[in-house]
Amino acid sequence: MSTAKTSPELSDTEAAVESLGAETPPSGDLREEYEALADQVRKYRFAYYNEDAPLVSDAEFDRLYRRLEEIEALHPELVTNDSPTQEVGGEVSAAFAPVEHLQRMYSLEDVFSLDELDAWVRKAEASVANIAPGAKIKWLTELKIDGLAVNLLYRNGELVRAATRGDGTTGEDITHNVLTIKSIPRVLKGENMPAEMEIRGEVFIPSKEFARLNETMVEAGKAPFANPRNAAAGSLRQKDPEVTAQRPLSMYVHGIGAREGLSAASQSETYDLLKQWGLPTSPYYKVLDSYEEVLEFIATNGEHRHDLAHEIDGIVVKVDDFALQRALGHTSRVPRWSVAYKYPPEEVNTKLLDIRVNVGRTGRVTPYGMMTPVLVSGSTVEMATLHNQDVVKAKGVKIGDTVVLRKAGDVIPEIVGPVVALRDGSERDFVMPTHCPSCGTELKPAKEGDVDIRCPNAKSCPSQLRERVFHLAGRGAFDIEALGWEAAIALTQPAEPEVPPLTSEAGLFDLTVEDLADVRIERPKRVKGVVDGTELVPYFYSKGTAKKPSEPTATTRKLFTELEKAKTQPLWRVLVALSIRHVGPTAARALATAFGSMEAIRAASEEQMAHVDGVGPTIAAALTEWFAEDWHREIVDRWAAAGVRMADERDESIPRTLEGMTIVVTGTLPNFSRDEAKEAIITRGGKASGSVSKKTDYLVAGENAGTKLDKAESLGVPVLDEDGFRELLAGRLEEDQA
Ligand code: NAD
Repeated sequence: MSTAKTSPELSDTEAAVESLGAETPPSGDLREEYEALADQVRKYRFAYYNEDAPLVSDAEFDRLYRRLEEIEALHPELVTNDSPTQEVGGEVSAAFAPVEHLQRMYSLEDVFSLDELDAWVRKAEASVANIAPGAKIKWLTELKIDGLAVNLLYRNGELVRAATRGDGTTGEDITHNVLTIKSIPRVLKGENMPAEMEIRGEVFIPSKEFARLNETMVEAGKAPFANPRNAAAGSLRQKDPEVTAQRPLSMYVHGIGAREGLSAASQSETYDLLKQWGLPTSPYYKVLDSYEEVLEFIATNGEHRHDLAHEIDGIVVKVDDFALQRALGHTSRVPRWSVAYKYPPEEVNTKLLDIRVNVGRTGRVTPYGMMTPVLVSGSTVEMATLHNQDVVKAKGVKIGDTVVLRKAGDVIPEIVGPVVALRDGSERDFVMPTHCPSCGTELKPAKEGDVDIRCPNAKSCPSQLRERVFHLAGRGAFDIEALGWEAAIALTQPAEPEVPPLTSEAGLFDLTVEDLADVRIERPKRVKGVVDGTELVPYFYSKGTAKKPSEPTATTRKLFTELEKAKTQPLWRVLVALSIRHVGPTAARALATAFGSMEAIRAASEEQMAHVDGVGPTIAAALTEWFAEDWHREIVDRWAAAGVRMADERDESIPRTLEGMTIVVTGTLPNFSRDEAKEAIITRGGKASGSVSKKTDYLVAGENAGTKLDKAESLGVPVLDEDGFRELLAGRLEEDQA
């Protein structure tokens, strides 16, 4: 590197400005914004690095930091030596002895999109082409572990000192604490150890251990950690090593600093040596020849981000070759031979406005958090379940807290924990109600010692009824599209009339369209598009005017058509609609196939039911218990009286070609839905199972068949496509094979 542009003395900002050309002095406003921003970034860094208790999410921090860089790029005269963009980030706390690193520790340049990564890679390739014409870069790609950097000094194979990164030049002496981490060897194995070497790695807490650790923290009356990264940092930066020893810390090596007597030409080669000597290297890194492979690595690990043992926040891409690393050099803050691609943030901070409780279908009372709505992982979140009172306690959250909210891809959003440092004393503890918020009945655990508490008023609790009505309309039950969540509320707990149209699901098929004329629900009132209080509006009928009287809406008419259709659904769907514990589609199909009618199921003994393949003793006991209740039997009787079909007619014209056979369907078939395929198997006397085993006679595999196909192949189970399946249904397959 011969030009001034790439000299280590020139900061990123200066380099950026060089490319922008001349600029005008900043306005007073911009200067003020800059100074306020720089102070804010310093304050957040201090809380993050020195107190291990961040005040804002990483995403918010990164946003502020980027803005700072932007302003500096336009106005380099604002940049001073202590500008946050010129420093590595951490400081050295007075609680630890300072330690000079033999070689500086750097941070990493972050990129937040593939376009930025692309630009970075092009720049690196151009620099390499300049330095070493014809050289081909090998990319060492690693997971960016979300933990805390440490520097381990080994002399002749013995660990003599361990330090945090600190400001990059000076770190904190944490030797005693590091000695308690089992995966870090005190003495390396093997011969001819380098006289001296600094090993850089990331200390982290495996994801599984994090929740357990927070629970013990809260039990001990201490503040929980906001996330695994802070838990790792807080655990390692303890004054008492005994405390560190009790924390589930691990480490993976990701770099090397000063070294004497180590002969390796590349970083990956060095990892091989370190591994042989007993140092923990990550099982996930790869050396790749092309940028396309790097992109693939990023995509694959992004997809499987949550299957890993530890948290990651991105992928680190490094030039593997040491000679090229040296030639590329570094800025005052980051190496030029490495970059961190950050995945979109999955954690944000928001305010926990309230903790309320929901009464579910089985009466289970579940606390959930109501938050200021925030965008996270691509969707706006304002509610998150807190499961039960023990979880609320274990997480240590109070109403009014700023909380860390996490939503990992499609996974359900989770409140991770509170930002304790932001409390102002106005926060209050959540108290689990003693009585059902829906019907006022005293809440009780189902059994002595249960964590979950329930509302025992199963029959008339409006919340439980609403959930059951919503459930029975579901796709796996009666499949009544017009009966959604809001309609279930309108039927069971409208604002008007006082007595709702449904006080038990028993009356569902007796409803008439006239019964619904007066149902009104509360809706936000809008005046010129702005919400101005609430108003009562009819739900099932149009609003009506003097000229045009109120009449059932199109959806209401659809509801009644669908109710008629629901009466002819097969028996298994009726069973699912009854909300019997443990009876989902699989058990319901098994029961329907074995007994053929509701009457036969009711007449069957618990033992007879338990013997049915796919039912078993737990489900059989739940069925007996369910049918023992008068009001449950009343549901069945009233539905039957209203014309719901309670028996499957065997179509004798369909030959029983699959009697005694177990068949599994997986993937997408061109002309059968999953339900239709199962129906086809069952009506021919076969068993449609959900999992492949040695007992499976055939696997019918459509497009995107996943692990079931692998399993069937490994067990030697014959696999059929749709054509084969048709042959099988027709009874021709066996004849052909015979
Ligand atoms: P960084 O975390 O973005 O990247 C550098 C660090 O990554 C290295 O020091 C190393 O410890 C680590 N790392 C993990 N895996 C690695 C691997 N395979 N190879 C090399 N290094 C690896 O940078 P930073 O300077 O440590 O911290 C800045 C980041 O920290 C910010 O982007 C922000 O997300 C977070 N931060 C948050 C706050 C806050 O208030 N929330 C405050 C300060 C910093």
